[in-house]
Amino acid sequence: MRILIVEDEPDLLQALSRALRDEGYAVDTAAEGEDGFYKAETYDYDAIVLDVMLPKLDGWEILRRLRKIKKTPVLMLTAKDQSRDRVKGLDTGADDYVVKPFDLNELFARLRALIRRSANKTTNVIEINGVKIDTAARNVLHAGKPVELTAREYALVEFMALHRGEVITRTALYEHLFDEDDSTLSNLLDVHVSNVRKKLGAEFITTRRGHGYCIE
Ligand code: CA
Repeated sequence: MRILIVEDEPDLLQALSRALRDEGYAVDTAAEGEDGFYKAETYDYDAIVLDVMLPKLDGWEILRRLRKIKKTPVLMLTAKDQSRDRVKGLDTGADDYVVKPFDLNELFARLRALIRRSANKTTNVIEINGVKIDTAARNVLHAGKPVELTAREYALVEFMALHRGEVITRTALYEHLFDEDDSTLSNLLDVHVSNVRKKLGAEFITTRRGHGYCIE
């Protein structure tokens, strides 16, 4: 899953991106509104964490422009606990919000819920052919036994499981699993797919020649 954070407070931006990377997300960042909107428009993020008060283009304006072209889930960071802000956010097309200062675990939980909802999943647990994926605990069971996956492997499994039945192109996988700064070694997609097959069964991810990958 790839997340964009748009936040102009450097300490908060850094802390948030580190925390989300630790949770296994690919993370892009923008420190002001114009760059934030450019990235939101250009890349296909799984969710966007969007501050309200931003230089150049504020969060409301980014959201207003974005909603004309995309349904990317947006979690707003509102500076003050004012109902006016919240109502405005939801009216403008925000999917959820947290009030600063917020608890990181609450933000994680809300992000997971947004991503789940956008994939039309209502529960944390996805079961596919003897594989059980708990997206809240971020663990995977295969035939009832815990499976050790690296953060990348888990991200691959979760993204594909949320889009079960769809053929996912390699380009789309790259875009959802790796952030813009990712180095060449960590983004060897075939290696991750091959490792997942070793751990969860060769048939778990099928290859559609010339099209991409699929979980049937
Ligand atoms: Ca701000």
